[in-house]
Amino acid sequence: MIRFEDVERKVERYHPETDLDLLRRAYIYSAKAHKDQVRASGEPYLIHPLSVAGILADMKMDVATVSTGLLHDVVEDTLASIGDIKGTFGEDVANLVDGVTKISNLGKKSKEEAQAENLRKMILAMTNDIRVVLVKLADRLHNMRTLSFLPADKRKRIAQETLEVYAPIAHRLGMSKIRAELEDLSFQYLDPQEYKRLKEEVESRRASTEAFIEEVKTRIAQRLTEEGVEFVRIDGRIKRLYSIYLKLKRQKITLDKVYDLAAIRIITKEEKDCYFALGVMHKYWKPFQDRIKDFIAMPRENGYRSLHTSVVGEEGYHFEVQIRTEEMHRIAEEGIAAHWKYKEGKGSDTSEDDAIKWLRRMAEWQQDVSDAREFVDSFKLDLFPKEVLAFTPKGKVIQLPRNSTPLDFAYAIHTQVGDQCTGAKANGRIVPLKYQIQNGDVIEILTTPGHKPSRDWLNFVVTSKARNKIKHWIAERQRAESVEVGRKIFDKEAAKLRLKPRQVLEDPQLIKFLNDNGYGKIDDMLAAIGYGKLMARTVLIKFVPPEDLAEIEKAKASKLQKVANVVKRALRLGDDRILIKGVDDVLVYRAPCCSPIRGEEIIGYITRGKGVGVHARRCKNAANLMVNRERIIEVAWMTDKTENPYAVKLSVVTEDRTGQLAALTNTIANVKTNIRNASTDDETLNDGTRKIDLTVDVSDLQHLERVVSALKGVEGVIEVERLNATAQSA
Ligand code: MN
Repeated sequence: MIRFEDVERKVERYHPETDLDLLRRAYIYSAKAHKDQVRASGEPYLIHPLSVAGILADMKMDVATVSTGLLHDVVEDTLASIGDIKGTFGEDVANLVDGVTKISNLGKKSKEEAQAENLRKMILAMTNDIRVVLVKLADRLHNMRTLSFLPADKRKRIAQETLEVYAPIAHRLGMSKIRAELEDLSFQYLDPQEYKRLKEEVESRRASTEAFIEEVKTRIAQRLTEEGVEFVRIDGRIKRLYSIYLKLKRQKITLDKVYDLAAIRIITKEEKDCYFALGVMHKYWKPFQDRIKDFIAMPRENGYRSLHTSVVGEEGYHFEVQIRTEEMHRIAEEGIAAHWKYKEGKGSDTSEDDAIKWLRRMAEWQQDVSDAREFVDSFKLDLFPKEVLAFTPKGKVIQLPRNSTPLDFAYAIHTQVGDQCTGAKANGRIVPLKYQIQNGDVIEILTTPGHKPSRDWLNFVVTSKARNKIKHWIAERQRAESVEVGRKIFDKEAAKLRLKPRQVLEDPQLIKFLNDNGYGKIDDMLAAIGYGKLMARTVLIKFVPPEDLAEIEKAKASKLQKVANVVKRALRLGDDRILIKGVDDVLVYRAPCCSPIRGEEIIGYITRGKGVGVHARRCKNAANLMVNRERIIEVAWMTDKTENPYAVKLSVVTEDRTGQLAALTNTIANVKTNIRNASTDDETLNDGTRKIDLTVDVSDLQHLERVVSALKGVEGVIEVERLNATAQSA
């Protein structure tokens, strides 16, 4: 049974000057907090945190990490809070304990199976301090070592999670020793029968295998010495059960040769000796060409370096050999933890540079980015800066890009869930649809059947799926509206041309027209008409019999003539300065709402029973009238007509100074313009300005602009505005 003194001694040995007081206080705190708890084995609970701290001390972690090992379960399993930890042990330890607690909770949120990859990612994504993961691995290792005390179903579940989530994380961090133990323990609980069978078989061959290993070791040592290659030692071992199991499964073979169980490792002092040793091996044992691997020149992504070969001896047996230096071996076994160690004789300096380099390489490998992220400080890193992982209420993990919102989440689940999304909860609390999802959030989407997407969702969704679905929906809706508008225009135009729309739509000629113009269906054509891309008349005119066409044109001309005559007689407002293009002798009137003057851009609008009103293009009424396109008629100013002046009303805002009205009227007279009327407010406005209204006679737009610019030149004038509505049109 482990005692605190053992942990303390371990830490003291590799780091004599560290703050052992912190460690002692952590131990006392943990002992008090877990006082009345017992493990499934019946032992006091404290055994567990002590063992975890022991594993971390064996990994030669810093004192904050080992202390975290002691405290890692107090927030989750006792009444202590993170605030308490922070107050007692400081920020560093509190952050580590918080990180471990969060990871433990993740396992509880994830209820669905076959999500190992995502859970693995989530653990790494939520960890901004790699030491948290190391504590969690030590925690899991001790739990696996004591798994036999739990009920069978729990054992299986935990073993499964260990095999799929934690062993791969250990692998990713290059920690092959811990990974191996986690895998063998998982195997034992996941497939007890197969484990037992294999173990018995291996045991039955143990003696012969060990004899074989000894023999081969001696011969290799002999050859290396003969050839003058320096080496530190030669290790021989029986392979791990899980790796034998995988190999048998992969190759669909049975275990019948002792050398399948053996693995030989040559440890050298220097890198060059690795290659010399490989040469010697290949000189005396025949290599399998495709089994030679140089992980020294090309290390694995997790930092592993070694030479691998498989050779066959004269007697026909073959075996695998790994060749590496002592340093390579240490990193192969311990991975990232190897970089964390306190350097011997260097006081409190960690080999930080190595660790940072290592993390950086790993981050690059995982993110597949060329520019290495700047690490905020030596231990902190963000392994997946581009992603965020969240849970559904049922525990399924959804992976999204960073800054994703509940809408992105909803569309990731199902298009319909996205379309009908009316609200969202994050971790049980209502959040806005713009909320940015955080790693580990449980997101619940609230839907209302029949609810439709909204265009402004496009302003904050992040995923292309959500964006495309929303856009698709908007396009669909617009299209439906266009088809409807198109159909109305089509029917109206058909009536004008004395055609029955139904008949036209069923005419084979129409199918030909659709094909020739790339419209798949009738609705596509109607949509084009609705969008204004296609004139209904262009389509329909083909269906009018030639004799009808002439008659229709004639009738239309005579109708227009009649309108003109009626207008002429009924209204004496005729303005002979305006020409209606294409139609002679139609009188028109200037719309009083905008009173356009010569030189301005104008449009004509056929009013029912009143004739053609002419509006300035700037006129707001005109903009509204433009919707009825068929009633818009092109109009223009006649250039050769005599000058009948227009009365235009201007509003001048000016500083209130004496003689200002006289100054304005003088100015107008100077530009040879007649003033019909001038009025001024009696009162000065609050801001010390005064408004003066003037009605002037101008011959055209240019003339008006001359007057306005002259007025603007008068000292004290702030603004000159043209008043649209005027009853005094010419
Ligand atoms: Mn624990």
